[in-house]
Amino acid sequence: MRAATLEGAEIDLTPDMLTGLKMQLQGPLLTPDDADYEASRHLWNAMIDRRPAVVVRCLGVADVMAGVRFAREHDLLLCIKGGGHNIAGLAVADGALMLDLSLMRGVWVDRERRVAHAQAGCELGDVDRETQVHGLATVLGFISTTGIAGLTLGGGFGYLSRRWGYTTDNVLGMEVVTPDGQLVHASADEHADLFWGLRGGGGNFGVVTGFDYQLYSVGPEIVGGLVAWPASEAPAVLELYRRLAEQAPPELTLVALLRPAPPAPWLPKEYHGKPIVALLACYSGEPEEGEAAVAPIKAFGQPIGDVLVRRPYVQLQKLLDATQPKGRRYYWKSEYLPGIEPALCDMVIEHAGRIRSPHSAVILFQLGGALNRFDDDHSAVGNRDARYVFNVGGAWEPPEDDATNIAWAREAWHDLKAFSTGGTYINFLTEDEGPERIAAALGPALGRLAEVKRRWDPDNRFRVNRNIAPG
Ligand SMILES: Cc1cc2nc3c(=O)[nH]c(=O)nc-3n(C[C@H](O)[C@H](O)[C@H](O)COP(=O)(O)OP(=O)(O)OC[C@H]3O[C@@H](n4cnc5c(N)ncnc54)[C@H](O)[C@@H]3O)c2cc1C
Repeated sequence: MRAATLEGAEIDLTPDMLTGLKMQLQGPLLTPDDADYEASRHLWNAMIDRRPAVVVRCLGVADVMAGVRFAREHDLLLCIKGGGHNIAGLAVADGALMLDLSLMRGVWVDRERRVAHAQAGCELGDVDRETQVHGLATVLGFISTTGIAGLTLGGGFGYLSRRWGYTTDNVLGMEVVTPDGQLVHASADEHADLFWGLRGGGGNFGVVTGFDYQLYSVGPEIVGGLVAWPASEAPAVLELYRRLAEQAPPELTLVALLRPAPPAPWLPKEYHGKPIVALLACYSGEPEEGEAAVAPIKAFGQPIGDVLVRRPYVQLQKLLDATQPKGRRYYWKSEYLPGIEPALCDMVIEHAGRIRSPHSAVILFQLGGALNRFDDDHSAVGNRDARYVFNVGGAWEPPEDDATNIAWAREAWHDLKAFSTGGTYINFLTEDEGPERIAAALGPALGRLAEVKRRWDPDNRFRVNRNIAPG
């Protein structure tokens, strides 16, 4: 079997070599002949169609160490799959040895210390499910099937970030397998440079096998959900969004979405497929306060659907999952914003009006709050000045529609980027966004990250990522 080396050459992986690796593993070793190989290599974004040479489905840290050592011994290209949700498909590379962590989904909660230890193959929903047993939560994203590993290592924002920062700001420690196959623990007290770099610099330095997250009291009941209006109301609804978001306390997070209505049961059938505007809200503090905070949204105009109610936090975490299924074709463009200007709203409405697929959307996420309060020494996440982030999200099914949908997203981005802070979110970068965009995402942290890279991965063995090795 042929496999890719780090230098881009090919070598033969002989049956003896594979048997040798297999004997060191507890989890399965998959080759293209194995039934599970296809499922393992396929990612959330169906635009990505790459074939690793072999897949190690790791069952624990020892399997990760064995995989990293084998790759090093034979100079193989290595890639790491956490939740497989990266839009650019950075979990998989042609000819590589892929470490698939998706069997490592354990979560242990220490209620007294308010810390959750989560294995790196967890999806967001795995962590919320276990922490909410105790009425606790950490900061995670909006879709429960996203992988914690990629999200955390690149930043991570969601319903709780305005209170407590990026996901990565709330990591207390990580277990990391280094390029030579050793296990180290990184925290503020141990390997502090590595700890700083991993929090924003992604998988550039090693394979993280477990995360310790700080937990906070949340729910179990919160006020959250969506209210929707016909797209003709978009100017007034975005003005409401702008006004409420500017005054919102950290407990309240607001998101505006413009898209064709999905066939959701809470939206009347006659609107399915028609353009709508919706506000997504989460008030993560006391439900009584939450009801007062979202009252202006519920009372606004004549909504066509309203599911903004008291509900379990874990239910809110899954509310949007059906809109982002694995296996569609996706293409995104994003920028951080310093604020919401009326001219930006006009542009958002104009480009939402040109959406070419029933699944695409333009989304404005509110940031601010605690995200802006940490300094650059805390973690390598850039863009601490960002108050919002927009995502032009192209999503469609037929491959023959690729060009049309990509062109729509690029045209919208072309106009909307006039409002950008100049920075962008590293976890939203697509396949065609290279070093310039990585620099825009990491900002001034890039130089210090390159030093950490030189110290921890001088041979750039971990390169299937947003790579920061000097060119
Ligand atoms: C539907 C959807 C919703 C999203 N919502 C949000 C959101 O609300 N908030 C937000 O901040 N982001 C969000 N994102 C973006 C998300 O943060 C990124 O897609 C992230 O890369 C997903 O992580 P993953 O583990 O699933 O990715 P993967 O594709 O598995 O991996 C992504 C990158 O991380 C590296 N990596 C993975 N695991 C490890 C590891 N254990 N050690 C070292 N490196 C590793 C991989 O090598 C790869 O380079 C969303 C993405 C999608 C598709």
